[in-house]
This record gives sequence, C-alpha cells and structure tokens, in this order.
Amino acid sequence: LKVTITEVPVPVSYGPAFEGERVRKDDVYLECGGGKTPCFELVRIAEMDDVEDGKVEVMGPDIKDVQPGDRLPLGVVVEVAGRKMQEDYEPILERQIHHLVNYAQGVMHIGQRDIAWYRIGKSAVEKGFTLEHIGKILHAKLHQDFGAIFDKCQVKIYTEEDKVKELLGVAQQMYKTRDERIEGMTDETTEIYYSCTLCQSFAPTHVCVVSPERTGLCGAYNWLDCKASYEINPTGPNQPVAKGETLDERYGNWKGVNEFVEQASRGAVSSYNFYSVVYDPMTTCGCCECIAAVLPMCNGVMTVNREYMGMTPCGMKFTTLAGTIGGGNVTPGFVGHSKYNITQRKFIVGDGGLKRLVWMPKMLKEEIRERLIKRGEEIGIPNLIDMIATEEQGVTEDEILPFLQEVGHPALEMESILG
Ligand code: SF4
Ligand code: ZN
Repeated sequence: LKVTITEVPVPVSYGPAFEGERVRKDDVYLECGGGKTPCFELVRIAEMDDVEDGKVEVMGPDIKDVQPGDRLPLGVVVEVAGRKMQEDYEPILERQIHHLVNYAQGVMHIGQRDIAWYRIGKSAVEKGFTLEHIGKILHAKLHQDFGAIFDKCQVKIYTEEDKVKELLGVAQQMYKTRDERIEGMTDETTEIYYSCTLCQSFAPTHVCVVSPERTGLCGAYNWLDCKASYEINPTGPNQPVAKGETLDERYGNWKGVNEFVEQASRGAVSSYNFYSVVYDPMTTCGCCECIAAVLPMCNGVMTVNREYMGMTPCGMKFTTLAGTIGGGNVTPGFVGHSKYNITQRKFIVGDGGLKRLVWMPKMLKEEIRERLIKRGEEIGIPNLIDMIATEEQGVTEDEILPFLQEVGHPALEMESILG
C-alpha cells in the first residue's frame, strides 16, 4: 500500500518561506545540539515488520517538561522500510531533515549528522509545537517527496542523555561506514561529477560539485550519495556534470564543471577550483563542517570545525567565519569543506596538500586521528599529526609559529603560499 499525505500536521505555518528564518537567542524556548548538548540525526533502513507507518515516539522529556531557554540532548532516528529502499538512500533522506524541519515557522535547524542544531522558538511553543511534531513533519514530507522509494516510516525522538549518547555512537559508526564507501575512487578516473544545489535556498549562488575525492562540504553527501539521489530524482538537486576538458590539473579546474556552475549560480560564479583554498576556491554555504583559512605568516593553512567554539589563528571563530564566507560566494583564502575531506588525497593539493596544514582544534585532530596518521604515512611524513598545532600551542599565528619551527613543520619549507 502507498500512503499519500499532502497536509503537514503541525500547529504552525509550514513551507519553504520559513526556511531561512532564524530563532534568536532571546526567543528560544528549547535548544538542542549546536555544540551545547549531544545531538544527532539518523535515517536508517528497517524491516517491514518493525516499522509502524506514521508512529512517532518521544522518549524522554518534551516541551512540556522544560522551561523557556532550556536545553536538551536530542537524537532523531527515522526508520524506513520498503521493497525499493536501499542503504544507499539513507543519507539522501537524512539530508532532507535540514530543510524539512526548517520549513516550520518558529523552528530553526542548522547542520546535519552529529553537528545538528535545533532551536524551537517561544512563538512555535505558544501555538502548541512539541518535539513530536518534528517526527510528524518528517513522516509526512518524506512520504510526499520520497514515497516512491519506501513504504513505511516511523520516527523515534530521544532526549535522555544516556540514550542519546549511546545511539550517537551507533550513528557515528554509520556515518564513518558511509564516508568510507568512496575510498578508492579517484577524480582522474571519473568523468562525471555530481552537482548539489540543495543549499541554494539559503545561499542562492552556492553550487557544490561533488567529485569522488571532494565530498560535499556539509559532510553528508559524497559522490555516491549524489549519484543515488539523481537516480531517485532525475530532475532534483543532484545532476550529473560531465567534467569535460581539464583546464588546470593542479588546482582541479574543468571546462564542463565551470559551465555548469555558471549556469547553476545564475552567472554569479563562472569558475572555481576543487583543490585550492588560495585561488578561486569553491563556493561555501553555511552548512560546512569545517572552514579552512590561509595563515600567511606560517606559510600554511588552518582549519576549524563547527563544534570548536574558541578563537582561531586567522583571527575569527567558526561562527564569524561561517557568517562571513557562508553566503555562497567564492572567497579566496577561505573555503568550507567536510571533515572527511581533510584526509582525502586531493585536499587543497593545488596549494601543497595536507602538509600545508599547520593548525586545527584538538578535538578535530582526535576525531580524524586514525585517518590523519594514515595519510601522513602515505605522504612520507608519518609524524605530521604531531606537527600540526592546536589551541594547546596557541590561537594566533604569533603563538604557533615558534612551535612549527621547533618541530620542523614541512609548510615552513614550502614555496610561498601566496605565490
Ligand atoms: Fe548539497 Fe553542498 Fe548543501 Fe551538502 S553543502 S547539501 S553537498 S549543496
Ligand atoms: Zn548548505
């Protein structure tokens, strides 16, 4: 049986018009994630018999149990079942949560995966909005937009810290498995890349072009995901892009890609490079997991992840960086990228690659430790990981330079980063 749902059963107005709306600090009733509480969202496939279509369970405190301005941990788990459903489709459905939740008036959603950030405003709560409605929205809209690939969908919402943390571990393992499926594919041997314009509602000139060795900057879409999304929805936001003639091998610049980007950005961006932060980097939107920035004095590059709240050696915190460069423009010297991309072989390879990396937050280093060590070995600098400064050495270029000199960081010996 196919379920057709057109109405979204929520007590607030609902639609794309509310997507860009912010919920300001003073207007927050409940906040989850955003680095303040553990938070994640996951779509996973389940057996037909284990899914009761439309069922939404909230396990733990809901709106009625909190005071205005409170915070809760949050895990949103969507289980879908159907004969046509495949594991490959999980990330595509999961990435929809961002805009689907944002469509609700008075509700703000930023990020994805385990860096999601929810704010439910006082105005929405006054109208009767509860956490259960997040589940109702996802059930209704996923059916409406993706009903062709699954039959049943149920949503489990967790707000108890222990349970959220436990399931967060499960989710992170799944994200890792998904990321690593792309390992082994190369840009050189792939003629078709995929676009993603899902974020244009927030950043109208932003176009991600996703190649095997450069995953989407949100971290949620790699080349395989875009390909699967195109197969499900051939007129959707992920289109095949024939890369065409190579215009610049070092920086990753292709004629076919440029033509696509120019058209998809409505003329705003006529060319960008896949492998550079210095010269015409890709456009950046507000979803990026990390932002890389050039550090001229250190002759290198730093990167900072969304969860790191402190100051960075480029003089800006993540939020300021995202606010400055996340509007969908090309900003030489700065570029958004995924965490996974740091250890992909093409990471800023035009600027010298991973050995340009001179600073990153300690938490990010720990998170990608295993792969970072492996990549260091691959490029012949097995102890690179220990040469990259963190906030422990400093948060200004002046503070970290002596450390880089002491450990003999390779960036200091490279050609000038500014050419
Ligand atoms: Fe798509 Fe890029 Fe937005 Fe991710 S950041 S959803 S890949 S446009
Ligand atoms: Zn985005």
